[in-house]
Amino acid sequence: MNKKIADIIGIGIGPFNLGLAALLSEHRTIQARFLERKHEFQWHKGLLLSGATLQVPFFADLVTMADPCHTLSYLNYLHQHDRLYQFYYYEHFLIPRVEYNHYCRWAATQLPSCHFGEHVDDVTYDAKQDHFVIDSTLASGEKKQYRSTNLAIGIGTRPNIPKWLAESNHPLVKHAAEFASLQQALAQCQKVTVVGSGQSAAECVLALLRSLTPTQVAAGAGIRWISRSAGFHPMESSKLGQECFTPAYMQYFQSLSREKRRDIAGNQGLLYKGISCSTIADIYDLLYERSIGGKPTGLSLHPNCEVESIAKNIQSGALEIKCLHTQLAQRFSLETDAVIAAVGYVHDWPQWLTQLKGSVLATDSNDDFIVQEDFTALRCDAGLGRIFIQNSEIFQQGIGSPDLGIGANRNAVIINQLLGCEVYRIASGTAFQTYGIPEDALLDR
Ligand SMILES: Cc1cc2nc3c(=O)[nH]c(=O)nc-3n(C[C@H](O)[C@H](O)[C@H](O)COP(=O)(O)OP(=O)(O)OC[C@H]3O[C@@H](n4cnc5c(N)ncnc54)[C@H](O)[C@@H]3O)c2cc1C
Repeated sequence: MNKKIADIIGIGIGPFNLGLAALLSEHRTIQARFLERKHEFQWHKGLLLSGATLQVPFFADLVTMADPCHTLSYLNYLHQHDRLYQFYYYEHFLIPRVEYNHYCRWAATQLPSCHFGEHVDDVTYDAKQDHFVIDSTLASGEKKQYRSTNLAIGIGTRPNIPKWLAESNHPLVKHAAEFASLQQALAQCQKVTVVGSGQSAAECVLALLRSLTPTQVAAGAGIRWISRSAGFHPMESSKLGQECFTPAYMQYFQSLSREKRRDIAGNQGLLYKGISCSTIADIYDLLYERSIGGKPTGLSLHPNCEVESIAKNIQSGALEIKCLHTQLAQRFSLETDAVIAAVGYVHDWPQWLTQLKGSVLATDSNDDFIVQEDFTALRCDAGLGRIFIQNSEIFQQGIGSPDLGIGANRNAVIINQLLGCEVYRIASGTAFQTYGIPEDALLDR
């Protein structure tokens, strides 16, 4: 960078900050630098499974929803790789996850502002100079320090580790985020248990089931699928239903009180936590085919069962999962050789960010940051620099917050603020529904 103080430093390079870097590459007056601890771009590597697709149309690439003519669009990626005709006949909006990752990696190599293998250790605020000081460590151990007027926090989420998973300390009891690297070892197991009923759980079950041969099943091998939910339900996929992931819904959502937002967000799990209808159908169809002639399918499904602990049974050598049937209020144990915990992801704001609470960042009555409609965290001091938060908790801005389809739109809003003018026209009327009071309504007095 030729300026001592950057205009913006992005911390973490997942799809959201990569998209910001991609759009910013067209605005050379903004000095930007993005730092990522991984050595290279990888998007949820442990779940890049064969057959798994994005859950959103390919327009949810890094740039298209803000700038369809951008050279780093997915369509241009296809063009550059001579795949446009194949994509034309492929006729699917939902592209393979492996290809989305390959596309992002292609974009990352063209963005000199993106720096990999650099872990951000600390962020402080220099009130005299009104800028942030960012300390990082390179893979080589070398320490770096940067100064920046603004920050873009794009650190994503981390795997949720419930107590029973943290305590098990067994090489074959792991979060689904590690699934791909365990597949070979799991194939050697007689019994594998998958816990959870979201998309990742279903994808792990499908991959395990596909690799299980009828001979292995006849010899007693099998997969068990456990969930504390009342069933293996689909995520929202209807056209009107999905409008709750639009900027229009997010805008409405933020007009509500923070308490109301928490209430609503707490009840919206099924809209995004469920399984895609096509994955449910793939599993069901495989069960149907495998069960012809009364044969065992190799998969048993158990809703309403909450895992309480996992320990090695010293006598049998197997793992023992202790469960509670939540509706029958009955405890029981199951034996297995391996457990894949597909139990989601959580926000885990690092100390370097939370330490800014109170001095730089305002908090609400729950001690949470207050992410505003323009994606900045509300400041409580007189400083002018902005901290943009990508992918904040859904109670802040609505369930669209982690959705890839929102990324480019959010980054357009961020860049407009950095440049102080509307370089990107922000689309209005992004949903057919009116979430607030109808415009022609007469309000009661
Ligand atoms: C398996 C899976 C599939 C998904 N599929 C879809 C989908 O199809 N459609 C959809 O809309 N959403 C999907 N999501 C949800 C969401 O869009 C993704 O999780 C997305 O990756 C979020 O992007 P992000 O940029 O916020 O964070 P991430 O992709 O999590 O990236 C954050 C990055 O920050 C880095 N980082 C963290 N701390 C530091 C630090 N201190 N210093 C340097 N770097 C740091 C991390 O290493 C990481 O690379 C999926 C989520 C998962 C888990």
